[in-house]
Amino acid sequence: MITPDRPILLRRNPKVSDAIALTFDDGPCPTSTAEVLDLLGEHAVTASFYMIGERVRRHPDLAMRVLREGHQIGNHSDRHAAFRGLVPSFCLKEAERAERTFQSILGVAPRFYRPPKGLIHRRVVRELRRAGYFVTTWSRMPGDYFRWHTADRISRRLARVRPGEIVVLHDGIGLRPGPDRSRTLSVLPDFIKGMKDRGFRFLSVADLLGFPLYFSVPAAGSDGHAQGTGGARQGGLAP
Ligand SMILES: [Zn+2]
Repeated sequence: MITPDRPILLRRNPKVSDAIALTFDDGPCPTSTAEVLDLLGEHAVTASFYMIGERVRRHPDLAMRVLREGHQIGNHSDRHAAFRGLVPSFCLKEAERAERTFQSILGVAPRFYRPPKGLIHRRVVRELRRAGYFVTTWSRMPGDYFRWHTADRISRRLARVRPGEIVVLHDGIGLRPGPDRSRTLSVLPDFIKGMKDRGFRFLSVADLLGFPLYFSVPAAGSDGHAQGTGGARQGGLAP
């Protein structure tokens, strides 16, 4: 059973029968995030962007555009050091550093955390949960970051998406500068149309799971974008 208090990895919501959550990792990225946003806007689709703190500092305008256009912001660590993320103390510091960036640049503190490459130590999940985060991964990974995956192969994998799933695509690749996201961009319109034809709605991860999106205390200077708030921070991150 999915409840906000269980210290588990949240991958999907099996109780939802007519919606999915589309997510994008590793942005914001100047070679693709704007194009992804244009496509989502054209099709009136809401998505969730799990951003890297370092990238938000480099591209604050893009990050702000994601927020302004009504998409969910998630915390995807500060520097995407995936394997070091298995070390609890390092992982917690990374989450906290990224959170400070989101607060100072965007005025929101996302409660949804996704570990780089999905790698996380069980103890870190517990610590993050104690600090008020929801640790979310995914249930459908078409592998759009693999260089050898053709657009056809990514499309075939996307066609298997089931109700209640969290799908992960990428508008960046770690901290790699200028990654080619053309295959992701090329499969997106048909995927969205196909899902809509099947009667699916696109929800943010927060709405799919029914949990609050941001911590309830917006940073000074927030212009009221902290929709979906309501979850108070339950305690500080461990040092
Ligand atoms: Zn990532």
